Amino acid sequence: MALISLKEILSDAKQKKYGVFATNAFSFEMAEVIVEAAEEKNSPVILMMAEDLFKFLNPERTASAIISMIKDAKVPVVFHLDHGNNFDVAMKCIRWGLSSIMFDGSNLPLKENIKIVKELKRISIPSNISVEAEVGYVGGLEAREKTEGQEGIDTNDYTKVEDAVRFVNETDVDALAVIDTNDYTKVEDAVRFVNETGVDALAVAVGTIHGVFRFKPNLDFDRIKEIKDAVETPLVLHGSSGLSDEDFKKAISCGITKINYFTGLVTEAGKKAKEIACGKNDFTYMMLNKSVMEAVKEKIKKKMDLFGSTGKA
Ligand SMILES: [Zn+2]
Repeated sequence: MALISLKEILSDAKQKKYGVFATNAFSFEMAEVIVEAAEEKNSPVILMMAEDLFKFLNPERTASAIISMIKDAKVPVVFHLDHGNNFDVAMKCIRWGLSSIMFDGSNLPLKENIKIVKELKRISIPSNISVEAEVGYVGGLEAREKTEGQEGIDTNDYTKVEDAVRFVNETDVDALAVIDTNDYTKVEDAVRFVNETGVDALAVAVGTIHGVFRFKPNLDFDRIKEIKDAVETPLVLHGSSGLSDEDFKKAISCGITKINYFTGLVTEAGKKAKEIACGKNDFTYMMLNKSVMEAVKEKIKKKMDLFGSTGKA
């Protein structure tokens, strides 16, 4: 059985100094290629379902299908809830059989965040389920939801393929930064959080952003190191799609062990779909789906090589 906890996978990664690739499945096909990529690279992987993406699938049924697939996988796979926004959704995911949950209390006062994570940790220990939490605040799509008081994501806010291609090509240009360094994870908060909750993985805000970067990323590597030296808990980097290969390598060498990478895959999928749909008149949906998923798989495999997890299963 290949379904394992986040704690187990990250303690190996921390010890051997590699990064574990983590991404969200928005369909069963997407879940399949995540596992296939890991098998082809003999790499561990973290397959996630984000609460914000539940509207694209029936989460309970899809979770059940994904769990059967993972049980047959040849490599260790963590099945993780990404950005659970409240206690109830975390509890549901535990019931559905996920092996790990993230509670995102980054918009709450630290004390409140600690209280909820501590309770989730207490509940999840008997079933060996891991808990990830976020201290500090990684901005992005949720920033707009919060400031504009929207319920859920507005699909008009989704990354447009042409914007993504342009921004990825132009990451050298300076533009207005939307990252506030005051939101970065403070070392003393990380220490307090870990001590009081016993959390299994800690997402840190060090200069990344969810979605597409609109400026050249400038990670605070010293802060990653300081937090790593201050806490034993493995560290997680969210919102990493705009980073360069060098950024990834350096972040891993400074102490990051789990890397959430999603927008880059969606962009790749959109680019491929557009290329096929515009280039041929005789394509079928099956052909399009297969080519898109193959492109996504190749991108995941390249990241596994880059993060050093290839061959570590
Ligand atoms: Zn995230």
